[in-house]
Amino acid sequence: MTHTNTTPGNQGNPESQGSLTDEVVVKFLQVLERARAEDMSCDDLFASLDEFVEREVNKKDAAKLMPLIDEHLDLCSDCCDEYEALLAVLENTKNEATG
Ligand SMILES: [Zn+2]
Repeated sequence: MTHTNTTPGNQGNPESQGSLTDEVVVKFLQVLERARAEDMSCDDLFASLDEFVEREVNKKDAAKLMPLIDEHLDLCSDCCDEYEALLAVLENTKNEATG
């Protein structure tokens, strides 16, 4: 008689972390990011607006690369108007350049 002791599966890591989770850190970073976006002045935005719009026109993930600008545009209708005007201008010049 042979005894084959087959364990049905040795899975599961008894590794419990009761400290700071990733979720908490991410939440904190999001709060921080939001605070900075609201903190951004319109002057700050204008300084980077043409770069932002250029990326937007070239489909280079402007909102991802410059999330603060993106958020400020959401919050501030003045800057949003300016952004849309600049976007229209750049798209026109791009169409003329590429034909
Ligand atoms: Zn603004």
